[in-house]
Amino acid sequence: MGYIMDENSLEVITAIQAVKMASTLCKMVGEDLVGRESLLKKDKSPVTVADYGSQAILCKLIKEKFQEDIIVAEEDSSELKKPVHSKILAQVTRFVHAFFPDASSKDVCRWIDLSSHRITDRFWAMDPIDGTKGFLRGDQYAIALALIEKGRVVLGLLGCPNLSVDKDRPGQRRGCLFYAVRGEGAIQVDLESGDKRALRVSNVENPSEIILTESVESDHSDHLFHERFKEKLNILKPTLRVDSQVKYGIVARGEAALYLRIPSTSEPGYKENIWDHAAGSIITEEAGGRVTDTLGRPLEFTSGIKMEKNDGIVATNGILHDVILKTLSLLLPLEGEGWVGGFEF
Ligand code: AMP
Ligand code: MG
Repeated sequence: MGYIMDENSLEVITAIQAVKMASTLCKMVGEDLVGRESLLKKDKSPVTVADYGSQAILCKLIKEKFQEDIIVAEEDSSELKKPVHSKILAQVTRFVHAFFPDASSKDVCRWIDLSSHRITDRFWAMDPIDGTKGFLRGDQYAIALALIEKGRVVLGLLGCPNLSVDKDRPGQRRGCLFYAVRGEGAIQVDLESGDKRALRVSNVENPSEIILTESVESDHSDHLFHERFKEKLNILKPTLRVDSQVKYGIVARGEAALYLRIPSTSEPGYKENIWDHAAGSIITEEAGGRVTDTLGRPLEFTSGIKMEKNDGIVATNGILHDVILKTLSLLLPLEGEGWVGGFEF
């Protein structure tokens, strides 16, 4: 692309509209009785009516404006099309009807399948619901969409229907959208009122003052290691356990100074999916933070749907990044030493 993207670019306007619509659909499904229904994919992870409905809407709206662009998304309609899941497909179609009254079940499956797993010079990375387990529990989840050009995330959005708008008033109104354009800063939008505000990471400089955020699911990162890390830096503040890329938004708005994701011992060698980090990472970076893997390497989005060249995630307020990497280097065994995710106390 030969032009600089900004707030008024068609990419940004289209992506905001798509993520807002998908966020509304997910909220509607969550408030409905079918909200807790899910089917299991081949890898045994759950997928819901909201995942499919969200992906159908996102793909349709992006492809309508950008026919040439590739979309790399988490879901496809292969399970949904099976006769055994016809009730789920009918539900997905019912929710999509709220936005596109003429859509048939066939259209819905076709829109979901406008995506592929082909990485090109310019593509959209999409997770229609990141944190499906959080969604099913009624906790946090995010609709994640990013545009990647030549391996670099240039636009990222997170729809967070269940996140409080004001971090200091967690019981009050919920529903935010975070978005960031490379070089233009990061913004939080109140999904109900449309109010916008610029995001800025925390200015904490003393490592012992860090508030850490980590996954709720202990299978997704090594909670015990995170505890040991906290002890090493004398961090006493309670950890914020949050599902999905909402964690990147929480670092971006200064609620936590560190999002740590050390690979879990339950799946050593696990490689992260690009759609689980593309949108979130640019939001933290554009709010003044830094994001690398646990060895300080930049996140890479070029080798496939898996981030083969990265191990774990470290997202910080920037100021503390080097201290955190140094501390991790003291605690993590060197590569090639046969570490399988565990450590010695
Ligand atoms: P979170 O809510 O931050 O724990 O992240 C949810 C994401 O974790 C899901 O979208 C999955 O793609 C991803 N995930 C699944 N299994 C693992 C694993 N063993 N290690 C790290 N992440 C995983
Ligand atoms: Mg995900």
